[in-house]
Amino acid sequence: MSSTSPTPDHGAQPAVTVSDVIKSYGDRRAVDGVSLDVRRGEFFGLLGPNGAGKSTLVEIMEGLRKADSGSVTVFGESPWPRNTGLLPRMGVQTQSSAFFVRQTVHEHLRTVAALFGAKREAVDATLDAVGLGGQHDVRVDNLSGGQRQRLAIASALVHGPELIFLDEPTAALDPEGRRDLWEVLRGLKAEGRTIVYTTHHLDEAEALCDRVGILVAGRLVVTDEPQHLIGTFGATSRLLVPLGRIDEREASSLPGVDGVTVQGGHLVLETRATGRVLAALDPLTGLDGVQTRTPTLEDVYLEITARQTQAPLTANDTNNAISAITANNKEQQA
Ligand code: ADP
Repeated sequence: MSSTSPTPDHGAQPAVTVSDVIKSYGDRRAVDGVSLDVRRGEFFGLLGPNGAGKSTLVEIMEGLRKADSGSVTVFGESPWPRNTGLLPRMGVQTQSSAFFVRQTVHEHLRTVAALFGAKREAVDATLDAVGLGGQHDVRVDNLSGGQRQRLAIASALVHGPELIFLDEPTAALDPEGRRDLWEVLRGLKAEGRTIVYTTHHLDEAEALCDRVGILVAGRLVVTDEPQHLIGTFGATSRLLVPLGRIDEREASSLPGVDGVTVQGGHLVLETRATGRVLAALDPLTGLDGVQTRTPTLEDVYLEITARQTQAPLTANDTNNAISAITANNKEQQA
């Protein structure tokens, strides 16, 4: 990667501003009035089910697609029509169809680097960073799916851009490869670069992102910091009690228990008031072997997307829902 690191400037003009963007394919509305700021130096995750419009929205931000209406600016400039002034400042994960398949890995990345005027030394460093250091002489069409994914990511990084767009960069990687890429991405963020990425790995988004936006059916239903989202939506915690300690009916009647199921060798107690339930369980069963599972971004995501699928909400409805849930949580914890 090139040695030019951007200076982090979190108070400045956003890296990307999306205002009321709409995009349809025929009569299918893929992006339905999305507004969003991505701050400079931010790691922003775009989440949502398949077909929610994530790739379309990212491609509009990248300047690869034209919005039907609304506006997008990147560093204050429109990326559409193709803005050559912005290209050196942006890194876009290449689709594998754009690979120079007859070239070797090193030749391919050298070609990409040359297109962007990046230094030749950046090629070796970038291949090392994405774990392709040992594959320099392998022809691109002989790479495995995971290796192609790494090369696509390398193509986005080789010229040291300030803003990096990655569309499901860890999708084809094994768990070890994912963890390695996390370190690369954390390193880029530490250098002050802005990252916008899509993922279906909620654990990953929780670990990496400063903020996430959840897109459902073309609408951005919530944008927040993962931990704040978990706290606000207060998805339930689960207490796992070994079977035989307490029966299902007795567990259901404990104060603070919202639901009881049997899973594996455990009675699973759902609650938004963990302390209260543990205090009630202690004299009845003791707490030996009782496990607590705190809510994750995945729990919140599933809750939000399930609600949206049942009865789509407007942004206002979502804010009202958040207020109602927060009030309810406070009541339960009191
Ligand atoms: P995601 O990335 O969240 O899976 P997409 O942006 O790929 O969502 O797709 C959003 C919707 O737009 C889907 O219904 C998809 O089938 C449709 N779509 C995406 N690209 C095209 C295209 N080039 N032509 C027609 N429909 C498309």
